Amino acid sequence: MIDITPDANPVISPVDAISGLILASGFSGHGFGTAPAAGGLAADLAMGTRPIVDPAPYTLSRFR
Ligand SMILES: Cc1cc2nc3c(=O)[nH]c(=O)nc-3n(C[C@H](O)[C@H](O)[C@H](O)COP(=O)(O)OP(=O)(O)OC[C@H]3O[C@@H](n4cnc5c(N)ncnc54)[C@H](O)[C@@H]3O)c2cc1C
Repeated sequence: MIDITPDANPVISPVDAISGLILASGFSGHGFGTAPAAGGLAADLAMGTRPIVDPAPYTLSRFR
């Protein structure tokens, strides 16, 4: 069993409803391979630094 999102891309994103919470989940069977980049993006979001990749495809709000 794997965690999978509707578009098979992970959520790496702040959670608007809970200030300071960064979500990194739903890696859809690729969580080992993408972990270094995913962790980097999550850290950048948490620290408020310029992300290493475009965070738009990974926002939680894309499912609303
Ligand atoms: C059979 C299989 C093969 C795979 N092969 C590959 C592969 O070849 N390459 C690849 O890149 N990816 C692969 N994956 C996917 C990869 O394993 C996942 O994407 C990755 O482990 C996800 O990491 P995660 O930290 O998001 O979640 P997880 O590794 O699932 O970690 C979540 C953790 O949270 C804990 N937890 C859950 N609920 C609670 C709670 N309420 N309180 C406290 N702790 C809780 C769980 O016990 C778990 O330790 C495979 C997955 C499977 C199942």
